[in-house]
Amino acid sequence: MLEQLLIFTRGGLILWTCKELGNALKGSPIDTLIRSCLLEERSGLASFNYDSAGAAYTLKWTFHNELGLVFVAVYQRILHLLYVDDLLAMMKQSFSEIYDPKRTDYSDFDEMFRQLRKEAEARAEELKKSKQVTKPMNNLKKQGGQLQKGGFERGSNRSGGGSANDDGDSDNMRGRKLENGHSNVGNVEIEESRVTGVANGKENTSSNIGAFDVSKLQKLRNKGGKKTDTVVSKGSNPDPKKKITKKNRVWDDSPPESKLDFTDPAGGNGSNIEVEAADHGESMMDKEEVFSSDSESEEDEEVGKHNKPDAKKTGWFSSMFQSIAGKANLDKADLEPALKALKDRLMTKNVAAMEEALVRILTPRRSIDILRDVHAAKEQRKPYVVVFVGVNGVGKSTNLAKVAYWLLQHKVSVMMAACDTFRSGAVEQLRTHARRLQVPIFEKGYEKDPAIVAKEAIQEATRNGSDVVLVDTAGRMQDNEPLMRALSKLIYLNNPDLVLFVGEALVGNDAVDQLSKFNQKLADLSSSPNPQLIDGILLTKFDTIDDKVGAALSMVYVSGAPVMFVGCGQSYTDLKKLNVKSIVKTLLK
Ligand code: GDP
Repeated sequence: MLEQLLIFTRGGLILWTCKELGNALKGSPIDTLIRSCLLEERSGLASFNYDSAGAAYTLKWTFHNELGLVFVAVYQRILHLLYVDDLLAMMKQSFSEIYDPKRTDYSDFDEMFRQLRKEAEARAEELKKSKQVTKPMNNLKKQGGQLQKGGFERGSNRSGGGSANDDGDSDNMRGRKLENGHSNVGNVEIEESRVTGVANGKENTSSNIGAFDVSKLQKLRNKGGKKTDTVVSKGSNPDPKKKITKKNRVWDDSPPESKLDFTDPAGGNGSNIEVEAADHGESMMDKEEVFSSDSESEEDEEVGKHNKPDAKKTGWFSSMFQSIAGKANLDKADLEPALKALKDRLMTKNVAAMEEALVRILTPRRSIDILRDVHAAKEQRKPYVVVFVGVNGVGKSTNLAKVAYWLLQHKVSVMMAACDTFRSGAVEQLRTHARRLQVPIFEKGYEKDPAIVAKEAIQEATRNGSDVVLVDTAGRMQDNEPLMRALSKLIYLNNPDLVLFVGEALVGNDAVDQLSKFNQKLADLSSSPNPQLIDGILLTKFDTIDDKVGAALSMVYVSGAPVMFVGCGQSYTDLKKLNVKSIVKTLLK
């Protein structure tokens, strides 16, 4: 017996539920499904088991990617409903024929559904009769007088089970694919590991295939990351000789005195530069950020909860209807903005689930404790090498200097390596930072192969006992193949501990695109079978974006790489950690 059937949009708007069933579900299996499987990277799965006090459900679902619809069936795990996958597929087909994004009432689907269900049940019954049911060798449990078969899930090829798929569902499932063309074979093991304590969302083992298209780069990352100790020199692959002149960016009319922009080569010869190490105070990396925008959003939430539209003048409800108040005749155009706001509001009703999922996406899965890693490298008498990559003008050298400043405050010795041998003025700019911070700089001028300069810099750092080498590289567009090849070579040859992608928060989705393509090119153009990709993100100009914080989320989501630093101004102290809580609050505001 089915417990519940739902159709909702990816935004969380419920379009149809089966009224006939109307069973009150125990716990919150749908929320858990959304939180653990749909919002995260588990959309490759097509079923999961939910356990809570007094409830043990199986949930199955399918996506209609083009229309952005999710079809979910919930049933008691103890039952083996052979027709569920078939039924979901048929529902998808029929519902997509009547679906219209402007429509919200689909009660006409009730009757269609009744027919589909009968059809699916009859088909399953036939299949059952036509097949001799063989009991599986293991995973059989007597429960409530019924036999429970463990390996029921679609595409099951469990080992040791002998005759799994013995009741006809193998026929039902054969060759079925998710929307994106990936069959579900192979997901069974993941699912089994969740049979108890299901969907606690802690593992990160799932395949990322599925409707939320995050998988490609994740897979690439999994390919890479293996480090070898052997450094193999591949014949030289010189950078193009063409030079570009970079325009100095001005971020406001009156830049602060402490501005770190030394792009002007004239200012880079050090003649009028302070020689004492710059002391601008404590880096914001080490300051705990106090975040206090809770009040506003909570108040707003209250308004919705108690249905008091007049409680807050600027609340969503009042502002929504402000435009139409006082009008004698309302037409469709008058209502449209209000309805859109209402729809958006309804879509956020899963806000708790959403918040948790966002926090999980943004919370790094790998260690981002650079200081610890630096000390570990030091114990092995190796310098810790960080390569800064990104397109032109995003703030690579400025933020490299901020990282140096922060490291120095932690008594870590730093050497800079001027491997932007392409853009005129780049070496001088870095030299100015080095002089200010009183750290050594390894430079070989221009036109040299940056991979070789980096290699020599690392050798020098090993000799002089520098703890960290910060490698500046030339800015390059993600689709500039020769330059991307040169970068790939630099990484391959030097095997850095950290490849940091420097991206501007300001350019939003462009930064996401840059990051994806950098990763893609690093994978495609590397001579290594296990190319090292981007390990972390340094998000710059965060001070300039107000509440447009979505780039941080998207960048982490597409690359799986954590945001390790956030640049938030033009002085050495303006570097901080990502404040996940604050980002999530801003996103959900
Ligand atoms: P590169 O070409 O990638 O090395 O970029 P630069 O380090 O030369 O920086 C380009 C411009 O961005 C300079 O004017 C920097 O002062 C500015 N910049 C870098 N980081 C930040 C930041 O976090 N906030 C702001 N507002 N400006 C920044």
